[in-house]
Amino acid sequence: MVATVVLSMLCVHLLCFSGMFMLISTRLHGKKMGIDIFALGSLLLGCAYLLQLLDGPAGWGAMSVINHTLTLCAPAAYALGAARFFDRPVPVVLPLLVLAGSYTVAQWLVQVLLGSEARYALLAAACAALFLAMAAVLLHGTRTFARHLRAEMAVFAILIGGLGALNAAKLVLILSGGLENLDMGTDFQMAFYIYMSFLGTVLPPSVVWLVLHRLTDDLHDMAVHDPLTGLLNRRGLMDALEAHFRGRPAATAHLLIVDVDHFKRINDTYGHKVGDLVLCGVAQVLQHTARQGDLVCRLGGEEFVVIAFDTDGAGALRLAERVREAIEQSRVRTDSAHGAIRCTATVGISEPFDSAEAMDENLQLADAALYRGKVLGRNRVEWAQALQARGLPA
Ligand code: GH3
Ligand code: MG
Ligand code: MG
Repeated sequence: MVATVVLSMLCVHLLCFSGMFMLISTRLHGKKMGIDIFALGSLLLGCAYLLQLLDGPAGWGAMSVINHTLTLCAPAAYALGAARFFDRPVPVVLPLLVLAGSYTVAQWLVQVLLGSEARYALLAAACAALFLAMAAVLLHGTRTFARHLRAEMAVFAILIGGLGALNAAKLVLILSGGLENLDMGTDFQMAFYIYMSFLGTVLPPSVVWLVLHRLTDDLHDMAVHDPLTGLLNRRGLMDALEAHFRGRPAATAHLLIVDVDHFKRINDTYGHKVGDLVLCGVAQVLQHTARQGDLVCRLGGEEFVVIAFDTDGAGALRLAERVREAIEQSRVRTDSAHGAIRCTATVGISEPFDSAEAMDENLQLADAALYRGKVLGRNRVEWAQALQARGLPA
């Protein structure tokens, strides 16, 4: 009786969460993060348990065969949903149909050749293997593909591993004591469904948490990056600067402002699309030329900023020259008849500074230097007046 009530509640839980996952997935345009597949998994498992409630004692019949197939396909769907969550573009419908078809045939063969007991043992063995494999993959993920969700993946691995162990115990019970051990009234079945019910209560909200986690990470990422070049935007630059100076208050930085020369002419001659390609090309050059740990940002339009840390005025000047020369040497390949396009840039360098609050002031200093560079003919490096007065090398 208790097991039947628990199983009924589990059914309701799974079907409700399936609906909720489906609703959430309709709000996730484009990137669904596997939640639609989790909805499918919950629906399959909910239906499997519904059939179990309707079917009664263990035995051979169409309802039981469908129940076993659904019981195995549900965790397979969860595994595929998890793969989608981690951005693996795995197919879902075909693998599930193949699994459902082949497992139905396997059930029939096992039933004909070895009997009902073997068919139930097959399901317990298949579920044990699948859940233990899922737990192993999740544990592996804590060190590889899911390092940023280490705690969550470890908890999932333990919970799913527990389900694998329970299925392995079920297999042993069937092999040692027959199908009577699967009676809804046995202690084992009660413990099994209470554990399933616990998982049915804990795992779906955890999946919602993971999707929310991912969604807010993506939103933050979009808020601090420029969509065209993938570089930091101004807000991302400020955040990164604050983080840098919080950790190392004594370190100084120099700001380089890089402005593409006559960019409007490039747009007007070759079109806006080619102009965008040029901007992406310049962004790549800056990333390759700046040192690891330096910050590269697209301030807007055709203006970029490089922040060089732990260097003096002469070092900043060398970096600025390298940047200017690398842009001059680079060629941006276009698909159009224009072939490869060249461009140049002018660079202004700020004074040294050692706080995020000083960025705006130094941006203005570098901008004034940049303006001087434009007046003096472009494709050159100029530094702030104060640095110049201190006699740094040209
Ligand atoms: P200077 O050498 O003095 O810097 O001249 P410039 O032509 O590079 O500068 P100006 O400020 O006159 O023109 C910048 C142009 O950049 C104007 C604007 O249409 C274009 N622009 C701004 N944002 C984008 C963008 O995202 N893509 C493209 N293709 N063009 C952009
Ligand atoms: Mg320009
Ligand atoms: Mg400009």
